[in-house]
Amino acid sequence: MILHNKKVAVIGAGPVGLTIARLLQQQNVNVSVYERDKDQYARIFGGTLDLHKGTGQEAMKKAGLLDTYYKMAIPMGVTITDHQLNTLFTKKNHS
Ligand SMILES: Cc1cc2nc3c(=O)[nH]c(=O)nc-3n(C[C@H](O)[C@H](O)[C@H](O)COP(=O)(O)OP(=O)(O)OC[C@H]3O[C@@H](n4cnc5c(N)ncnc54)[C@H](O)[C@@H]3O)c2cc1C
Repeated sequence: MILHNKKVAVIGAGPVGLTIARLLQQQNVNVSVYERDKDQYARIFGGTLDLHKGTGQEAMKKAGLLDTYYKMAIPMGVTITDHQLNTLFTKKNHS
C-alpha cells in the first residue's frame, strides 16, 4: 500500500476528517487528526447531521460504525409549513 510506513495527517476533525481517519486506521495506517477548534464551544454548531442511506450511512458502514450510528442517532421528521405555520407536509422518522 502506498501509505505503508508513512504518517498521515488529517487536518480537521469534522465528519469527513474523522471518517477518513477511521477508514485509514482500519488499514493500519498511522494517522493523526489535527483540529483547530479548542472544544465544541469554539463556534456555533449546527443541529442535526443528515446521514442518508447510500451516502453518509454507507461511509459509516464501511467505517464499521453503522450499528453505533443507529444506536445513537435520533431519527427526525420533516414538517413543512406555510407562513402561518399551517402544516403542508409531514414525514416522520426521515432517514
Ligand atoms: C450553519 C450550518 C448549518 C448546517 N446544518 C446542517 C444540518 O442541519 N444537517 C446537515 O447534515 N448538515 C448541516 N450543515 C453542513 C455540515 O456542517 C457539513 O456538511 C459538514 O460539517 C461537513 O463536514 P466536513 O468534515 O467536510 O467539514 P467541517 O464539519 O467543516 O469540519 C472541518 C473541520 O476542520 C477544522 N479545520 C479547518 N481548518 C483547519 C486547520 N487549518 N487546522 C486544523 N483544523 C482545521 C475546522 O475547525 C472543522 O472542525 C450545516 C453547515 C452550516 C455551516
